[in-house]
Amino acid sequence: MELQPARLAMVRKLEAQGIRHGGVLEALRSVERHRFVDTALVNQAYEDTSLPIGLGQTISKPSVVARMVELLCHDQPGKLGRVLEIGTGCGYQAAVLSRVATEVYSIERLRGLHERARENLRAFRISNLHLLFGDGMLGFSKGAPYAAIIAAAGGNDIPAAWVDQLAVGGRLVAPAVASAGVQNLVVLDKTSRGVVRTDLEVVHFVPLKSGIG
Ligand code: SAH
Repeated sequence: MELQPARLAMVRKLEAQGIRHGGVLEALRSVERHRFVDTALVNQAYEDTSLPIGLGQTISKPSVVARMVELLCHDQPGKLGRVLEIGTGCGYQAAVLSRVATEVYSIERLRGLHERARENLRAFRISNLHLLFGDGMLGFSKGAPYAAIIAAAGGNDIPAAWVDQLAVGGRLVAPAVASAGVQNLVVLDKTSRGVVRTDLEVVHFVPLKSGIG
């Protein structure tokens, strides 16, 4: 099946919805999302929907990936430096990130998904992407400080380790509970004078869990 037209159509829709960052759009044009989902779901790969990836987890909607990665890149004209992703899942967003950053560390707590992501990504041979198995609530201190941190799973709070491992001048984008059990997209900017938090729209991510499984 020729899926490139469907992928380009997906990116045109994202542009029409307001995604502007050239590097982000180019990354979304180039990464083949259909290679990250089950063969039975391939014909839905370019719809704006989340899809099951096994073990009760989902690949995020393309519009959510685009929105979050654009927020990470915000006013950066060139590539981001080192980026930490919490929640590799199937590896799709990690592949997108590898196109907009010089180095990406992506951590997953479920061994089955960590291995699936490795499998999915093998053919792409992405040399600046490092897949890690472990509890991402602790971040990954060996790669710190990070220019940007992005999470694909949401808890009640933003773990302190993430804020510690963020560089001054860096930005973190993650879902977190803002009020009464409602999850919002949260942006944290770490400045020399402290951390500035901005709560954005309501989102629906799988839960951030501690420990490995
Ligand atoms: N970005 C992924 C989305 C995966 S869904 C993609 O493109 O497919 C979120 C993932 O976060 C799930 O795989 C879940 O297992 C993982 N997760 C939840 N809590 C975690 C933690 N503490 N550390 C690492 N991964 C975690």
